[in-house]
Amino acid sequence: MNILLHACCGPCSVYPIAELQKQGHQLTGYFYNPNIHPFREFKKRLASMRLCSAATGVQTEYAAEYGLTEYLRKVVFYEEGRCGICYLMRLEEVARKTKELGLQGFTTTLLYSRYQNHGLIAAIGENMAAKYNVEFLYQDFREGWQWGIDQSIALDLYRQPYCGCIYSEQERYDKKMHKKKPEISG
Ligand code: SF4
Repeated sequence: MNILLHACCGPCSVYPIAELQKQGHQLTGYFYNPNIHPFREFKKRLASMRLCSAATGVQTEYAAEYGLTEYLRKVVFYEEGRCGICYLMRLEEVARKTKELGLQGFTTTLLYSRYQNHGLIAAIGENMAAKYNVEFLYQDFREGWQWGIDQSIALDLYRQPYCGCIYSEQERYDKKMHKKKPEISG
């Protein structure tokens, strides 16, 4: 299948790229992540994805404009449910882009993360696939967790310490918050 792979960052992309190529899929990457805060963090993740693309040979499209204002407008007053809004915002654009590029389907490197809600991502992915008349490929990339970490270290990719948004940055560093802190996510 010709697949548009939504890439949240370089380290989370390494294993899904290897696995999907092994299965015989033709891949195009798409970095679209308006959720990332702050701007310098966004630039670091963008740069790491460019390195990953060069190392793997996967041609990648980049939404390189900083989209935080649009993201914040969608989640303010809905902070508790923000991850669903964040998934929807990204996967709708990826489904639209899949259609625009004339590709058959899409998937996302969010499915590599142990810290994301896979059921919710799958449901939103299926809905967006139906809306744009393309396919959504669900695959549990968590099985390659350690391999992906080892490879990202070997490739010297920047590995982020929190999921991406301003709220997840506080959860990671504010000692008064007792939520489980992600080691890496995207
Ligand atoms: S925690 Fe991660 S998935 Fe949830 S809203 Fe923030 S950036 Fe998006």
